[in-house]
Amino acid sequence: MKKTQTLLPRPPIVVIMGHVDHGKTSLLDYIRKTGVVAKEAGGITQSIGAYEIIHASHESRIDAEQTQNNAEFPRGSALSPRSSAPAGGRKITFIDTPGHEAFSKMRARGAKVSDLAILVVAADDGVKPQTKESIEILNAAKTPFIVAINKIDKPSADIEKTKQDLTANGILLEGFGGNISWQAISAKTGQGINELLDLILLAAELENLTYDSNVPASGIIIETKINPNRGIVASVIIENGILKTGEKIFTASAVGKIKNLTNFLGKTIDELSPSSPAIILGFETLPQIGEEFFTGSQIDANLSPITQISNSAVKLVRENSKIILNLVIKADTSGSLETLSEIIKNIKHEGVKINILNESIGEITDGDIKTAIAGKALIIGFGTKVNKIAENLAKIQEIKIIISNIIYELIEAVENEVKLLEKPKPLGEFEVLKIFSRKNKEQLVGGRALSGVIKNNSRFEIIKNNEKAGFGKVVSLRQHKREISQISANEECGLFIESDTIISEGDRLIWK
Ligand code: GDP
Repeated sequence: MKKTQTLLPRPPIVVIMGHVDHGKTSLLDYIRKTGVVAKEAGGITQSIGAYEIIHASHESRIDAEQTQNNAEFPRGSALSPRSSAPAGGRKITFIDTPGHEAFSKMRARGAKVSDLAILVVAADDGVKPQTKESIEILNAAKTPFIVAINKIDKPSADIEKTKQDLTANGILLEGFGGNISWQAISAKTGQGINELLDLILLAAELENLTYDSNVPASGIIIETKINPNRGIVASVIIENGILKTGEKIFTASAVGKIKNLTNFLGKTIDELSPSSPAIILGFETLPQIGEEFFTGSQIDANLSPITQISNSAVKLVRENSKIILNLVIKADTSGSLETLSEIIKNIKHEGVKINILNESIGEITDGDIKTAIAGKALIIGFGTKVNKIAENLAKIQEIKIIISNIIYELIEAVENEVKLLEKPKPLGEFEVLKIFSRKNKEQLVGGRALSGVIKNNSRFEIIKNNEKAGFGKVVSLRQHKREISQISANEECGLFIESDTIISEGDRLIWK
């Protein structure tokens, strides 16, 4: 059964960047203080690396003002619409780890965790080295951003000079020859911050941010801690799917099962949707900050069974004395491809070396099959499919393809292949079907070669009931009364054998 795609809107995930001391932390603190609906918090204010606010848009603020003017509640009272979550409020997620190691890791990955950024520039200091660095990162990641000219409450603030400075650095602001939105603010007094948040919601609307409620949840690990009582505590931001308690969860470096899920305020919850921050208990090993996570429940596993094309075993490749498992990896997105290949590179095995021949995004095509034929490779695909030509070619050429929507299943499949390769296959295997004669050591038996090649004058092992029972030697090999030198898999023949062990019907003879 194929699940249908259900795209739903999701709130923006915002990151704040800029030079040190320009007010990133102050701005995050101010927004958090005024925007987090702390009623349900139970007093938890500890940072988990991200928080969510509800912001009343400009229009709903005007509505609220009008309501207040109707004197239904006194301004600023506990009942005033501004002091609780305004009805017209919309969510925004802020990543609050500037300058943090997590943040630099995420930035190194192209700031892909955030949909939008706020570039903070202090009006009394202008563009500085880290402002320029932030601009470069945002441009490289193609992340839209809004400029916040901060500290305008300071007597030394010079908004015009800051704007000129930005222009000189290629940031063309609205009303200044360009279209980058900007807002003059004070993270100290709060001036301009509502308008800044309006601009964020406006910019988010243009991005048309959605998620699919029918796919396994995925997102980014933003912080991890080890708590002596609770074990590994991971903070995440959900980017797709619905995150649910009880699901299996995986990253490139860690595995677990969600035992407990809480929102960023520490409240236990059964499920959370994008772009919410969440705290997860249940990782068995410590995930890395900045890694993408994926989930997959048992139910999901049943709905999206692993697909395997061509049942043939992966062919043995040897390099010096090592057995090599060559892989061609395909995935639906660059993020999942990176995760999959990272996990696979981490599969360590004494006897087998995993070698990724090629990795790319998209459907599995005949080009991939050709790569696999040349390299005797196994093809694995995450969230992708095989085109018809490729499928036919794979069947004819006996190229094994394994596809799943659950990363962990693919990892298990690769590990299985590794185990199969590691176990040396016998050179030949023979099933004894009939005993014709026996005289001392000499025995004449009939049977069928199950695999490999069976040669005259060769030594073999005797297996009775899956246990080693002795050794023997072929002294003559006969087919249709003719003496022959060897037979191959699925052929029948008679064997003249010399062995101290008495061979019976049903025994297996193995050549190593
Ligand atoms: P960060 O390094 O970018 O996180 O900067 P901080 O938020 O730590 O701010 C650096 C200093 O500037 C602190 O002493 C803040 O109190 C101060 N600061 C931040 N924003 C403002 C502002 O809008 N006005 C004034 N007067 N000071 C500010």
